[in-house]
Formats: sequence, C-alpha cells, structure tokens
Amino acid sequence: MSHTKNKITVLGSGTSTGIPLIGCQCKVCLSIDHRDKRLRSSLFLETRNHTKIIVDTTPDFRTQLLANNIHNLDAAIITHEHADHLHGIDDLRPFSFGPPPRDIPLFTQEKTRKIIEQRFSYIFQNGGAPNLGGGVPRLKMFDVPLNELTQILEVSDFTFFSYKHGHGETMGFHHEGFAYVVDCMELSEAQIATLKNFNLDLLIIDCLQRHSHSTHLTVERCFDYIEKINPKQAGLIHMGHDLSHRHLESLARERFGNRVFPLYDGQNLFY
Ligand SMILES: [Zn+2]
Ligand SMILES: [Zn+2]
Repeated sequence: MSHTKNKITVLGSGTSTGIPLIGCQCKVCLSIDHRDKRLRSSLFLETRNHTKIIVDTTPDFRTQLLANNIHNLDAAIITHEHADHLHGIDDLRPFSFGPPPRDIPLFTQEKTRKIIEQRFSYIFQNGGAPNLGGGVPRLKMFDVPLNELTQILEVSDFTFFSYKHGHGETMGFHHEGFAYVVDCMELSEAQIATLKNFNLDLLIIDCLQRHSHSTHLTVERCFDYIEKINPKQAGLIHMGHDLSHRHLESLARERFGNRVFPLYDGQNLFY
C-alpha cells in the first residue's frame, strides 16, 4: 500500500511507570477513558517509501507491537538509555529470526550505544553471532552524527540532535517537517531557533506534569517551547498521572486552539 505521507503510530504516551501507576487510586489512574491508559512512550514510523522504524524499545514493546499489528521492522532508533525507553530491546528478536536470520540496524548516539553494549552485554557476545540457540536479537549498531543530515536505510533526511534530560541527554530528531523531543529538561535558545527554522508541520514533545520536575518539561515550559517553535501542530507525550487526557486537552485548547493536543496510545498522525 502506498501513502504519500509519512505515518506515525503512537505506541505509548505515558511516563516511565506507565499509567495507571500500579497501586495508585488517583482519578487519572482509575479513569475509564481509554486515552488515560498509557504505555511507555514510543513511536512507530512508516515513511513514504515504506521504511518501518521503531523509536524506542520500551518495557511494553511486545504488547505495543501486538496491539498495533506490527510484524515488520527495518530499523530501530533509541533516544536514550533510560529503562522506560530501552528495556524491551530483547523483543527485537522476532525481527531477526528470518529465515534467513538478519541484523536489525539500531541507530543512536555514541554514548547510548556504549551503554547498551555494556548493559545488554549478552546480546553482543561473540560479536553478536547467535550463541544461545538464536536466543538473542541480532543488532547492527550505528552511531549517528548530530546536527547534520543523516541517512537511515533508504530514508535520507533525518537530522539528529541532543538536548538536556536531567544529568544526561536525549537524542531527538527531525524528519521531513516532523520533530521528536521526548524526555526533555531544557532546550537551548539555539535549539529552539533551529526547530523554529524547520517550519515544522508536527512537533511531538515531552509534557510530563504541571509541577516542576528535575528531568522533564512541565506543561508550562512545554507550552512556552511550542509557542516559540511554532509548529503547525503539536502532540504532547510522556504524561504522568497528574494529567488526565481531558484536562490536558482543555489546557492546550485554551492557549493554542485545536492545533496542540495530548497524544494517546494507538493514535495515528501523518506528516
Ligand atoms: Zn522516559
Ligand atoms: Zn528518560
């Protein structure tokens, strides 16, 4: 099937614990609105030329694949090494089984690549050759350059960039009028200017909660960035249980109208 636009499926829109938070009795965690059930934050991209890319392999990765009927994958992008964005990595296995067995290209920044190789060392023993009866994902690791046009398989115009996320950094990216800024504490003025200059059709950006946090954007700062970057549309992601879908939707509407909205699991967007 051919489409003239790039397609995004939101596989998860929640913060690190997922929503509901286990054991929590708050209004959002008990909500029956399906948009308040949030798996860990992740996107699935299908580009115009049919390249299929997973953005982050969360602890919910397998569930997310099954829920969205995803059975093909060409590459993975990992934004950073936090558990909620990475620890489903072993479930890349079915995509390397074949036949014939094949490597899954994984794109991330050098720092994150090194941590992945250390934390999941069992995957990389024997240079990644199957050593447990084929029981490990076969990954081909690529360090992406930052702030320059980069090719991922047949897709030529990704630009990756890195920004502050507490004491570490997250790798965001821009592709054909779409930018992804998940797990963000702060963007520099220069980064805000660069994102503005992209004249974005769609920005998906971290929007954790109302009160301040040491590693994530608050609603207030998120909205200020959206105003400065001025995308045609913005989707909010990585929400905690401080924010119901309805409430955040009304906060966004008050300030921006319908062009800014919280995302929900299973949602499709095009750019
Ligand atoms: Zn996160
Ligand atoms: Zn994080």
